[in-house]
Amino acid sequence: MSTAQNARLRVLVVGAGYAGTTAAVRLAGRARDRVDVTVVNPRPQFVNRLRLHHVAIGRPVPAPALRDLLGAGITLVEGTVAELDPDAGRATVTEPEGVRDLAFDRVVVAAGSTTTVPVPGAEHVHAVGDLESARRLRPAFAALPADAQVSVVGGGFTGLETVAELAESRPDVAVRLVTGGDVGAWFTPDGREHVRDTLRRLGVELVDGTRVRAVERGRLVLDGGHLLASDLTVWCGGFAAPPLARRAGIAVDERGAVLTDGTLRSFSHPGVLAVGDAGHAPAPGGDRYSMSCQYAFPSAAHAADLLRAEALGLPGDDVPLDLGFTARVVSLGRRHAVLQPTTKQDVARGRAWTGRAAVLAKNVQVRGTARAAGVERRLPGAISWPHAGRAARPVRAEPAA
Ligand SMILES: Cc1cc2nc3c(=O)[nH]c(=O)nc-3n(C[C@H](O)[C@H](O)[C@H](O)COP(=O)(O)OP(=O)(O)OC[C@H]3O[C@@H](n4cnc5c(N)ncnc54)[C@H](O)[C@@H]3O)c2cc1C
Repeated sequence: MSTAQNARLRVLVVGAGYAGTTAAVRLAGRARDRVDVTVVNPRPQFVNRLRLHHVAIGRPVPAPALRDLLGAGITLVEGTVAELDPDAGRATVTEPEGVRDLAFDRVVVAAGSTTTVPVPGAEHVHAVGDLESARRLRPAFAALPADAQVSVVGGGFTGLETVAELAESRPDVAVRLVTGGDVGAWFTPDGREHVRDTLRRLGVELVDGTRVRAVERGRLVLDGGHLLASDLTVWCGGFAAPPLARRAGIAVDERGAVLTDGTLRSFSHPGVLAVGDAGHAPAPGGDRYSMSCQYAFPSAAHAADLLRAEALGLPGDDVPLDLGFTARVVSLGRRHAVLQPTTKQDVARGRAWTGRAAVLAKNVQVRGTARAAGVERRLPGAISWPHAGRAARPVRAEPAA
């Protein structure tokens, strides 16, 4: 290798979801002569995770080739990062043809999250948190006889969207939403009512204020030992990062996400940056940013900009992320959605939008998430985001044991 080549910063990106593709494309596009970017992902297609509940009901979801999304200047390795050694700058990658080591100077952990089931009986549940799970759910859901009982557990955005899709696609089965909280409680009152009314009109039974304590074959065990028949259970009750970072000895939170400061660098290993669902950066309100696209894209773009500054020897490699939220949009089947304005700190405020405007906004969001990396490749630096006016404080959180 020549000296000039040696001077290039070798950046490994683990995972090519929304965050990983964005980080890779933006960095390669903005610092092409000074970085070597390698992306490792288990499959050669991009998964638009927002639409995995569509996979579960058999609706077509485009899966563009990652090779095309990333462009020519990035090395794409089809495989899984099985082990990371951040001190040695080495990753062990399992590929279809075998195992190999990759060397890096900096690693961007963008491995996303998967469904976690924190109660006994995980072997009895289905999920939509990753492509394989959604694909397994599809034939199981399609094979249900009329009048079968389906339970979706978890009243967060994924649970709301999933239960609506299932109920809309199979009006002949009994679909319910079971949640420990109040269905729609996150929204302002009119948004909440719209969510509840729409789900009821789709035939969804709302079982709120009660927690699922265990899942058994054919039934749920609720608070107080109450039993609820359930021929098929879809768990949307929690997500956690894959165990890769924890296994590598990187400081993580209780959900396996890398604990970072506001610059998205790991507290324990500053050569490790974490973005999207796999990263836990302190939000201005004190808590972490929620697992969402609203966080995945800006965090990835910000990490790319810091690495660019480092590679080019420019100032700005220690600037904390400044991210403000504006709205959330949740679909409730094909014909309904809620667009909920938020404060910059992601708290629902004002009047929720419903009707065609909200459905249109959701469609724009879904198309936008699939196209973002392509836009960034053609126009490096194109992705921008609203600021909160106050960057994340470098609060040091205690790593999980
Ligand atoms: C059904 C559903 C609906 C959702 N709807 C919304 C919504 O409406 N709005 C919203 O903001 N958010 C929504 N979310 C959440 C959103 O999808 C996530 O916040 C987002 O996907 C996070 O992006 P990411 O790039 O961090 O992770 P991902 O998109 O999960 O990408 C991670 C990638 O890393 C790969 N990977 C994992 N481990 C490894 C490894 N060891 N080696 C190599 N590669 C690895 C994975 O295979 C994957 O390709 C939804 C989630 C689901 C499941």
